[in-house]
Amino acid sequence: MRIAILGGGVSGLALGHYLAADGRTEFAIFEAASVPGGLCRSKQREGFTYDLAGGHILFSKDREVWELMRSMCAEVGGVVRSERRTAIRWHDQWVKYPFENGIGDLPPQARFECLSGYLRAAEQRKSDGTAPRRFDEWVRWRFGDGIARHFMDPYNEKIWCYPLREISSNWVAGRVPDAPIEDIIKAACQVSTEGYTHQAVFDYPAHGGFQSITDGFAKRCAERLRLSTPVQRVERSGDGFLVNGERFDRVVNTLPLQRLIEVVPALPEDAKQAVRSLRWLGLSSILIALKRPHLEPRSWIYLPFADQGPANRVTYFSNYAPSNAPKGCSSLMAEITFPKEEAPRHDAQLVDELLRGLERAGILRREEVLFTDVTTQPYAYVVFDHDFDRHRDRALAAIEGLGLETFGRFGRFEYLNSDQCVERARTMAQKLLARLGERARS
Ligand SMILES: Cc1cc2nc3c(=O)[nH]c(=O)nc-3n(C[C@H](O)[C@H](O)[C@H](O)COP(=O)(O)OP(=O)(O)OC[C@H]3O[C@@H](n4cnc5c(N)ncnc54)[C@H](O)[C@@H]3O)c2cc1C
Repeated sequence: MRIAILGGGVSGLALGHYLAADGRTEFAIFEAASVPGGLCRSKQREGFTYDLAGGHILFSKDREVWELMRSMCAEVGGVVRSERRTAIRWHDQWVKYPFENGIGDLPPQARFECLSGYLRAAEQRKSDGTAPRRFDEWVRWRFGDGIARHFMDPYNEKIWCYPLREISSNWVAGRVPDAPIEDIIKAACQVSTEGYTHQAVFDYPAHGGFQSITDGFAKRCAERLRLSTPVQRVERSGDGFLVNGERFDRVVNTLPLQRLIEVVPALPEDAKQAVRSLRWLGLSSILIALKRPHLEPRSWIYLPFADQGPANRVTYFSNYAPSNAPKGCSSLMAEITFPKEEAPRHDAQLVDELLRGLERAGILRREEVLFTDVTTQPYAYVVFDHDFDRHRDRALAAIEGLGLETFGRFGRFEYLNSDQCVERARTMAQKLLARLGERARS
């Protein structure tokens, strides 16, 4: 069986890894860029290393996947393990993350508003247990007015770029922790509570940035990886396919669906229109190289307010691995999101607004900035609006109706981390190999 894998991000590379380990199939990975890794790529500049799509950490609920991804770093000295230390910069002070477990850090009036709102919302949920579909209404239903006003609204408006009423609450299931009410009361009384235990520890490659993981996968299928080879055309041919004119039995896509529809002329127009109607966010990631020997012991912070500048999150990047910054220096990494209608910016004005905002928020001093480096990503976050399911289902039905397989963060429009892409790759490999077994038997 000859398999074409479209895209050499972590999804395509991990699929290649599983197929290569099995050894029964022939496959080729088509990657447009000259370097594999997609959103997991990293960059080096003047002794600093940073990830091109915001700060990435390695964590998985799936032990086997976590171990596999860690093993990819063996050649770069393994991984550095850190405790997750996250916080919210709430005006001019720190509040523990998640916010509801940190309300004890707030001044008394705000603390009262958050606690009373939370208790009222819990009471109301007893008579109305149905979660609202609109995200802004869901926030009030779940957390109450105080937490909505003091954190959830400004933070989510900043990161999601679109009005919160246009965003569906579907995506929060399993993502936003459901804190017991006693914990919130304890938090308000400044009795320490654990809060969000997911990702309490995480790993990061000791050298080379997060890309060391995808480099590890790429090495395992190096002869099958075709770099600087954009997919230009995919068409059916008998019971197989032609990719750029070359024959394959199966095609597995991991490209963003918006790229896929450009190269598959056979897809019906309404399915292409459904793909165009999906919403997503682009991203500008900005490395801030600092002449400061040590950072505070933090992993990343959230910046909910407009006067803190355009970044919604800042990673304390040189804390992930000492090799991320040269001796005597440290680094931060800021993330700024853009709606799909706007190209992510990389201009000097954006950087100036960012640095001013961070200075106002007390995160850095301008004179310690050595340089900044901006990278943009057209596809960073899937946006779950109210039409998401309808558009995505139509698109996937048409793509799969042609016999194409598709998975990955934007290959299926799923809010996946890299470890979940590896899980999906394992499942896809099992599916392809099971079909191979059936063919051999028949
Ligand atoms: C801000 C941010 C923070 C994140 N943080 C984390 C984190 O902390 N931990 C974590 O595990 N995950 C994190 N993720 C998620 C992770 O980056 C993604 O889930 C993962 O990288 C997606 O991989 P993929 O292979 O599905 O897609 P991609 O990486 O998008 O790969 C698609 C590939 O297709 C290629 N391509 C596009 N068009 C063509 C064409 N025509 N022909 C050939 N190739 C083409 C692209 O160059 C790319 O290499 C984060 C993501 C973002 C945006």
